[in-house]
Amino acid sequence: MKRLCVLGSTGSIGVSTLDVAGRHPDRYRVVALTANNNLERLHEQCRRFQPAFAVMIDAEPAAELRKRLAAEGIGTEVLSGVGALEEVAVQPEVDSVMAAIVGAAGLLPTLAAARAGKTVLLANKEALVMSGPLFMAAVRQSGADLLPIDSEHNAIFQCMPPNYHAGRPAREVRRILLTASGGPFLRKGLHELHDVTPDEAVAHPNWVMGRKISVDSATMMNKGLELIEACLLFDTPADKVQVVIHPQSVIHSMVDYVDGTVLAQMGNPDMRIPIAHAMAWPDRFDSGADPLDLFSVSRLDFEAPDFDRFPCLRRAYDAVKAGGSMPAILNAGNEIAVAAFLDERIRFTAIPDVISHCMNTVEPNRAESIEEVLMSDRLAREAAHRYIATLN
Ligand code: NAD
Ligand code: MG
Repeated sequence: MKRLCVLGSTGSIGVSTLDVAGRHPDRYRVVALTANNNLERLHEQCRRFQPAFAVMIDAEPAAELRKRLAAEGIGTEVLSGVGALEEVAVQPEVDSVMAAIVGAAGLLPTLAAARAGKTVLLANKEALVMSGPLFMAAVRQSGADLLPIDSEHNAIFQCMPPNYHAGRPAREVRRILLTASGGPFLRKGLHELHDVTPDEAVAHPNWVMGRKISVDSATMMNKGLELIEACLLFDTPADKVQVVIHPQSVIHSMVDYVDGTVLAQMGNPDMRIPIAHAMAWPDRFDSGADPLDLFSVSRLDFEAPDFDRFPCLRRAYDAVKAGGSMPAILNAGNEIAVAAFLDERIRFTAIPDVISHCMNTVEPNRAESIEEVLMSDRLAREAAHRYIATLN
């Protein structure tokens, strides 16, 4: 029996995780749930799973949740404040932590879980991108198991040699083939991108996800973040990671071996598949996903990415090459730009400009301590805000 903490339980990945956990009460007990501000959903999840702990960031909704659960005779301890995220992630009664908070807000609790030697189920790619080598060193030092949830990285992990552990080099691997759907604007005229709305940008052709990652998929910054994620998780230089546009999202990524073998992992685009894989690892269990029907898929297409259409992808390669805290600067610029686009304060096509401005003006550091990482994150956010102010 494993005891699970879900950071970001009310989001898209959090809900899918609880769906999988609910199918396996003999294997998983939910001991902690956390949310930013979705009181109704967290309340419903607490009723169903009766965790030992629940966290809401703000004190007011936390007090309301505490009152409701007490009236229902549910003994969940309700905590509030950002520090409570770390507190529940490192509890001795937690074995596995699903890191499913979106963005930099997930960094400290996810890093704390890694340092505490918990099994880390990593969906929160921004946390890894920001803290990179520091995070991987924490995993190595504590001996934590790190299992990728991002569908591509989970696919790569499944295609790696037997007994492979994240963070180790695999000499028999020639290349990683990182697949990308291309998002909703793969075929749109370049001049039309100027006017796309947030609702158009979040309408992903194959996946239903949170709004931030959906915009990242439309700009392909998601693939850029995933490139950096792949370099770290699989201890691989960027020139050994080839991004492959594959619009059907049936192959979730591939590993190309020195003998010419290419292993691919396939499945329906349903995040419960990588979630169940990581939760059952090294076993397998039911995810609830439909079986793949190859006759309805009928064909698989592949093409090379167009860096002029997707400048964010190019900036991600630049950030890996620069190293140090440059990936944290890229990530922070992107988070501010995406939030501004979703608020209709900047155009879709301004997102890469904001990121480039941050990368061109913020001096990166070596990112050898969490303070250095957070410093670059803060400076890049300030630079992004200043630049956005000049656009209006
Ligand atoms: P989401 O927006 O649906 O959910 C985010 C969760 O984080 C929610 O529970 C929210 O309450 C919590 N949260 C947000 N801001 C917070 C803050 N400041 N402090 C504390 N909690 C906060 O996002 P999602 O789509 O589930 O994505 C979560 C992560 O997983 C992201 O890093 C994303 O890149 C990654 N991911 C998602 C998918 C997917 O299919 N949705 C696939 C691969 C990777
Ligand atoms: Mg992905």
